[in-house]
Amino acid sequence: MKYYSFSDYVRFFGLLLLGALLGWAVDAFWPGLVGALIVWTLIQHREYTTFRRWAVRPLRRPEFATDAWQNAADILFRSGRRQRDRAHVALAQLRNLQSVTEALPDAAIVLDPSGRIERFNAAARRQLRMRRSDLGLPFVELVRHPQVMALVQSREQREPVEFASPFDDGARLEARLVPMGDAGALLLIRDVTQLNRLLSMRQDFVANVSHELRTPLTVILGYLETLQEDDLDAETRRMLIDKVVPPAQRMHALLQDLLILTRLESESDGGIEGRMPIDMEKLLGRVVAQVGGLAGAAHRLVIDARSAHRLIGVPSEIESAVGNLLSNAIRYSPDGGEIRIGWRDAPEGAVLDVRDQGIGIPREHLSRLTERFYRVDLARARAQGGTGLGLAIVKHVLKRHGAVLQVESEPGRGSRFFTVFPPARLAPFDKTLEVVG
Ligand code: ADP
Repeated sequence: MKYYSFSDYVRFFGLLLLGALLGWAVDAFWPGLVGALIVWTLIQHREYTTFRRWAVRPLRRPEFATDAWQNAADILFRSGRRQRDRAHVALAQLRNLQSVTEALPDAAIVLDPSGRIERFNAAARRQLRMRRSDLGLPFVELVRHPQVMALVQSREQREPVEFASPFDDGARLEARLVPMGDAGALLLIRDVTQLNRLLSMRQDFVANVSHELRTPLTVILGYLETLQEDDLDAETRRMLIDKVVPPAQRMHALLQDLLILTRLESESDGGIEGRMPIDMEKLLGRVVAQVGGLAGAAHRLVIDARSAHRLIGVPSEIESAVGNLLSNAIRYSPDGGEIRIGWRDAPEGAVLDVRDQGIGIPREHLSRLTERFYRVDLARARAQGGTGLGLAIVKHVLKRHGAVLQVESEPGRGSRFFTVFPPARLAPFDKTLEVVG
C-alpha cells in the first residue's frame, strides 16, 4: 500500500512553488518558501487532530484532505470493521452456547480455579436452588456433602459422586467434575432418582423372575432325581412323571406371560396395526368357553353383553385381558360362585366388567395389584397356579386401548374389575358390517 499518492506530491510541491513564486514576486523568495512550508505543516497538524479525534471511535469512514491521512485512516477503519464483525460472530456463538447450556437438563456450574461459582444454568437454579447472589461463593458452601466437597477440591476428573439432594427429599443427584485447566472446572450435576428407581425395579424384576422359575424347577429336579433311581416300579414312575407336569406347565405359563408383557411394553404404536371393530359378545363367549372350559364347571359364568357398540381394538389383546380377569375371578372364588362378565353402554363410553362373589381383596392392596408379581396372598396365588403377571398384562392392554383398569372389592363378598372404553374407541354396532370377534 502506497501512503503518499501522486496528488499529495502535487499538492506539496504546488504549495512550495506558490510560496516561492509569491516570495520571489515581492523579492522575498526564501520567506515565501518558508511560509509555504509552515502552511503545509499547519495542514498536516489539522489532519492529525482530525485523525486523533476520529480514532477514539472509528465507527464511520472519515474524510481527510490528504490521501496519506485518508489511507492511514482507511486501513484502521477496515481492520476495526473486521474486528467488530469477528466480535459479533464470537458474541453470537457465545450466546448460542449460553442458550444450549441453559437448555441442558443437567445442572452445569462453572467454577473458577479456587472453586468459586462463576456461572450456572437454569437446571442449577432448579435442582440446587442457586441464585445470582451465589455467584462468587465457594461451591462447597452450597452443598456440604463430604464426597462432593472432596470432588470439587480435587480439581481432577474422578468417578462421579452420588449424593442425596439437600433440597428435595428422596431425590438422588450425581456430580461429575470436568477440569478445564487454568480456567477452573465444569461441575455437572444430574438427577438420577428416576434412573435409580428403574435400575432397582429391573433388579427386583430379575430377582422375581428367577425366584418364580426356580421354585417349579426345584420341584421338577426333585422328581427327576427320584426317577433316576433303578428300583422304581412302573406305577411309581408314572406317578412321578405326572407330578412333573404341573410345575413345568407353571414355568411355561410364566414364560408365556413374560413374553406377552414384554411385547405389550415394547410395541410403541399401541397395537394400531391389528385394530378392528370387535363384536364383544362373540369375543366374551369365546373367552368363557376357553377359560371356563379349563376351569371345569364349578362356577356359573354369565355374559351380559348389552352395549350397542363394538370395541375398536386388537382382538387377541382384549381376549387375553378378559381371559386373565376371568381366570382370576374363577381362581379366587369358591366353587359354585357366580361370575358375570358385562359389556354395557355408559355415559362416558362402554363399560367392560368382570364381577365375582369370591374372596375379595383388602383395600390396602388395591393400588398395587397391577404391579408385576404382586400377590395379596402369595401361597394361595401360587397354589392357584397364577403367574403374578395377569393384572399387569390387563393394565397394559387396557392402556393401549385408551382405558384404565379399576377395581372395587370387599373381602369375603367379591370383586369387580372394570374399565371404561372412551367413545373414540367404539364403533356403533352395524350388523351389515363384517363382524370380527
Ligand atoms: P396371579 O397370577 O397371582 O393371579 P394377577 O396379577 O392376576 O396374578 O393378580 C394379582 C393378585 O391380585 C393375585 O395374586 C390376587 O391376590 C389378587 N386378585 C386378582 N384377581 C382377584 C380376584 N378376582 N379376587 C381376589 N383377588 C384377586
